[in-house]
Amino acid sequence: MRLSLSLAALLTATALSSGAIAQTAPTFDAARLSGHIRILSDDSFEGRGIATPAEARTVQYLSEQYAAAGFEPGGDRQPDGSRLWTQGVTLNRFVVSGLQAGLRVGDWTLPLEQGQQIVASTRLPGQTDASHVMLKDIPLVFVGYGITAPERNWNDFKGMDLKGKILVVLINDADFEEPSLETFNGRAMTYYGRWTYKYEEAARQGAAGVLIVHEDAPASYGWATVRNSWTQPQFDIERADPSRDRVTMEAWIQHDVADQLFQHAGLDFEALKRAARSRDFQPVELTGATLSAMFDLEQSTIQSHNVVARLPGTTHPDETVLYTAHWDHIGIGAADTNGDAIFNGAVDNASGTAGLLELARAYAAAPRTQRSIVAISFTAEESGLLGSEYYAANPLYPLATTVGGFNMDSANVYGRTTAMSVIGAGQSDFDERVTTAVEAQGRVVEPDANTQAGYYFRSDHFPLARKGVPMAYAESGGTFRDEPVAARIAARDEYTDRRYHQADDEWSPDWDYSGQIEDLEVYYSIGRALADSRDWPQWKPGSEFGPARAISADQRR
Ligand SMILES: [Zn+2]
Repeated sequence: MRLSLSLAALLTATALSSGAIAQTAPTFDAARLSGHIRILSDDSFEGRGIATPAEARTVQYLSEQYAAAGFEPGGDRQPDGSRLWTQGVTLNRFVVSGLQAGLRVGDWTLPLEQGQQIVASTRLPGQTDASHVMLKDIPLVFVGYGITAPERNWNDFKGMDLKGKILVVLINDADFEEPSLETFNGRAMTYYGRWTYKYEEAARQGAAGVLIVHEDAPASYGWATVRNSWTQPQFDIERADPSRDRVTMEAWIQHDVADQLFQHAGLDFEALKRAARSRDFQPVELTGATLSAMFDLEQSTIQSHNVVARLPGTTHPDETVLYTAHWDHIGIGAADTNGDAIFNGAVDNASGTAGLLELARAYAAAPRTQRSIVAISFTAEESGLLGSEYYAANPLYPLATTVGGFNMDSANVYGRTTAMSVIGAGQSDFDERVTTAVEAQGRVVEPDANTQAGYYFRSDHFPLARKGVPMAYAESGGTFRDEPVAARIAARDEYTDRRYHQADDEWSPDWDYSGQIEDLEVYYSIGRALADSRDWPQWKPGSEFGPARAISADQRR
């Protein structure tokens, strides 16, 4: 069997490099992967929206599968000392409806229809469960990329008082369009380029709201993705002082809306966009321009769940090797042209969820590791990485002795590839571990091909990394090894263009799991070697995540 042979070679290579003993090679099963994905993305799972009847179904399925694999419940502790399969995750839920919004400059007005010219929402709790939010004639200020980065000597706000104003902001960061500037790592997106950062920073500035100008290339996705994500209910973890972290209105507008608005305010959007690439950029008031918006806000608290499964280690059970993948997807949304409203989320992320179940089965079938293995199926990733943010804020196993781990989000279902791509390469010594394991498979490591998309900040390893836990995020890269190559490329591209975060992200009987399986072998061999060693992965010098790890250094021996 090709897979077991190559994996045996891989494990030997990893074992030699880490000094660990050789391990029994697991076999990851394509039919099992396919079966899990088919079930989890079935219409009866309703797109796995959080806190819907589909959540209970999904949690039950995952708990049963972890149990069948041989893992123990690893979630919240009960009064009798035993653990549940789940960690309760309390979220605030916000539903915006009846949006009426428009721009005005003098006599010129432009109505903004929800989903068409604008998507507007909020994550700022109101005084009551049902409230009416009104923003009337609010002045607008263009703040470029809306970034304060002291370590890069960058400040787009230049001390301007932005309290109560609406900020018009560009997506991504200042050198996306002109990488040679190298002010924000060239074309690679920094965290400053993410929409999450734009809203957080606007709240710190005391702004009333934000209009992010959507453009496909710097956002790395189209308007359909924006619309589908933001016309759904919004969620947030409970916060001590919400107004410190959240603005009254969070919105995106279409690029041509910005063009018209700036033109009527006597400004040139493209020229100002170029000006925003400089440290000397000054925020620009859109003189005479205002935005008015009102909407109804219905809010409630909901209970969602991470599913947590654990295989205790033999000699160091208090130390944890982590594997994660989000179980949630978008749920039921607006129907597409075929009338399909169920966002099945087969690739995103039933595929990673299936991989996690297969990893659990492989670990439980093999000799027990010295350190514990914890698998977490996170909730609310699609709502803003909230299950992982909740876990990072309320860890069930101490983060200081969480060795590190792998997150999986959207597996390769199109076949074996020549390479593995390390997302966010350069952050930690997982780079070298992945290289060793991948080369033992006869593949190579290639640099993150889409650093401008900021994928390292877009899935569940990120809240853990921000707390200092070295987390790796790697996936199939390079080109396909098996014919028909062109058809495999076409299928992958079609997913990106037509299925990602749309109703058509559906399971196919034609998928080829050999590429995902090779990736799982890499995650397994590295995690296995770590779980049988006294080794602690390290952040590289200069990583923005190293300082958070250093604080707890004395707890790792
Ligand atoms: Zn995902």
